[in-house]
Amino acid sequence: MRSTLAGPRVLLRRLREVMAEPINAQERLDKIVVLIAANVVAEVCSVYILRADGVLELYATEGLNRDAVHKTSLKVGEGLVGLIAADARPLNLPNAQAHPAFAYRPETGEDAYNSFLGVPILRAGRTLGVLVVQNQSHRTYFEDEVEALQTTAMVIAEMVAAGELEAIVQQGTKLDLTRPMHFHGVALSDGVGLGHVVLHEPRVVVTNLIAEDASAELAKLERAIARLRISLDDLLASGDFAQHGEHREVLEAYRMFANDRGWIRKIEEAINNGLTAEAAVEKVQSDTRARMMRQTDPYLRERLHDLDDLAHRLIRELMGRQHGPVSESLPQDAVIVARNMGAAELLDYGRDRIRAVALEEGGPTSHVTIVARALGIAAVGLAENLVSLAESGDAVIVDGESGQIHLRPAQDIENAYAEKVRFRARRQAQYRRLRNKPSITRDNVDISLQLNAGLLVDLPAVSESGAAGVGLFRTELQFMVASSFPRMSEQTDYYRQVLDAADGRPVTFRTLDIGGDKVLPYLRAIQEENPAMGWRAIRFGLDRPGILRTQIRALLHAAAGRELRIMFPMVSAVSEFHQAKAMVDREIKHLRRHDHKGPERLQLGVMIEVPSLLYQLDELFDVVDFASIGSNDLFQFFTAVDRGNTRVAGRFDTMGVPFLRALRQIVERANAHNTPVTLCGEIAGQPLQAMALAALGYRALSMSPAALGPVKAMVRGLDLGRLSARLLPRLETPGALEDPRALLRAFASDNDISL
Ligand code: PEP
Ligand code: MG
Repeated sequence: MRSTLAGPRVLLRRLREVMAEPINAQERLDKIVVLIAANVVAEVCSVYILRADGVLELYATEGLNRDAVHKTSLKVGEGLVGLIAADARPLNLPNAQAHPAFAYRPETGEDAYNSFLGVPILRAGRTLGVLVVQNQSHRTYFEDEVEALQTTAMVIAEMVAAGELEAIVQQGTKLDLTRPMHFHGVALSDGVGLGHVVLHEPRVVVTNLIAEDASAELAKLERAIARLRISLDDLLASGDFAQHGEHREVLEAYRMFANDRGWIRKIEEAINNGLTAEAAVEKVQSDTRARMMRQTDPYLRERLHDLDDLAHRLIRELMGRQHGPVSESLPQDAVIVARNMGAAELLDYGRDRIRAVALEEGGPTSHVTIVARALGIAAVGLAENLVSLAESGDAVIVDGESGQIHLRPAQDIENAYAEKVRFRARRQAQYRRLRNKPSITRDNVDISLQLNAGLLVDLPAVSESGAAGVGLFRTELQFMVASSFPRMSEQTDYYRQVLDAADGRPVTFRTLDIGGDKVLPYLRAIQEENPAMGWRAIRFGLDRPGILRTQIRALLHAAAGRELRIMFPMVSAVSEFHQAKAMVDREIKHLRRHDHKGPERLQLGVMIEVPSLLYQLDELFDVVDFASIGSNDLFQFFTAVDRGNTRVAGRFDTMGVPFLRALRQIVERANAHNTPVTLCGEIAGQPLQAMALAALGYRALSMSPAALGPVKAMVRGLDLGRLSARLLPRLETPGALEDPRALLRAFASDNDISL
């Protein structure tokens, strides 16, 4: 026999009235449990709320002993209530006491009740508490009653999230919602940022939960889904999904979900239970998320992200909002929290108010990382589930030195970090004092320290940092942040500004390194199996000479009367350099024919980042004016370890013997040919690794602006002769050097070198 008298819609409508009454939180909860019990015809209805200490506390009850309220508690995982919280799933039992997890709490008087239905109180997949109904009779609750109770739980979740329960929190306890959380991610950009969360894609807050008219909501849903499908089809058909920062397979997955009857049916069911269409989408998504957050399978987790995105799109569609980031007014100390973001999107925020970036994804050499470093903003990546656990405005600390994120930090953590920030500021001041001091070792060896740059925001650093020049100017960044292909005149202007800012210091322009993962939004993306080893950089430039030629022309114009240094990326054969050089020669002739003033001096070089060049070093150094090692790519191809794949990126050490030997070989051959060689990958900016490079024979290193101070401090403390004598013979002798990193660390500590 069905026991539900009034339908769930009637219950929700009554709940709405209760929510609007001017009563305090305890009175409201008390009324809610009475209403639910009456509606489900249960003798008992209880609300347990999850505290920060992982304990579920009874906050209200109808039917159990009221004296137990705020006294009875169960740990997550303990008893039936704890089990529901741990699994984030409903539990429907005709004979609760027979369940092995049943934990008897005598003070509640619940021994009289046999059947038990409990559901988690969820918000964005996070468990905030448990809602339970009980009956004396042995009965199994119907599926639609389970559904109705889950819907009701959503109303309570909103009450918790809105902070209403704060007023009745017992002394000495805290709600889980405000619990400090700690994420151990991966350090992407050095620095420490304290501030408040700004969600890059703010969740649309659904405040209107309860609907008047279910059929109107169903019609609204149908229209929104139709619009959503059309927009996805259009996007896929247009082929320019790269413009929306999306990949084809993701969109295909969206389309699959958007046509998934199961998903849509669940949303319809929630509407039939009395929710508005947008609240129904949110509810279904929250249930799915709660289950999938416990998944460790990376494929399923990825699908969860897709489904999240789709649900957000649908909610925006229902609420008439535009897709894409909703602009929020930024606090003075914004910490941008995102699953992932593009370099251009980070730049859009402007530098002034951003303290840090915290990502669920993001790799150490991804572009948002490179831009964060260029801007001097702390960044941490691989913080699992951060986006759903953070709320807009939460206090947060991002430690880009250790890769830690503290969300809603406790006071002692905040104090410790405030101290760390002061310490870092003092250290920065010391580095600033080094600015005009020479970069010279204790035994008088000059190590030229240069900058990696690529954006106009980098330019002031060229003169302010005391760098010897720009060792790597990544020209593709201008192209990546533009909304259309920069015209030749725009490129010329840009390069002129760079040379002006460098004020006579040498600047090495690297020609466009696009393709692979560096996608230009306006250039049709080509699907490749292995983009890093695909049609990129010089390969693309030689096959599409129009683009490279325009860039070379712009560089020649910009450098009129000055020195121009051009470097070609991803060269794997000397012949590619010859072809590129021939293009430059043709452009110079063209310039002369038109009576343009060319550069006063032209230097052409290559990046060494493909291992095949290691077997052509003599031929190479014979023809190039200089070379620069792109150790990020060289290492990835040397070890066959994808630089952006965090699962394998840590597998080998850049300071391992094989790579050090390769680097040693390059510099030895370069010296034999009198060809200057620089190293401009990320290892140049890390004091310990830079120290090893100096010992291997490198005399020029190029790095991000923030790395200059620490590396210069290291150089000035280094007795290079002693280190070389310790490192090199061991490196050359088979089996003599097991752990170069340990040797370097020990040397630094014995010699008081700051790393
Ligand atoms: C490198 O590969 O080391 C390098 C400096 O180039 P990028 O990081 O831009 O690929
Ligand atoms: Mg590279």
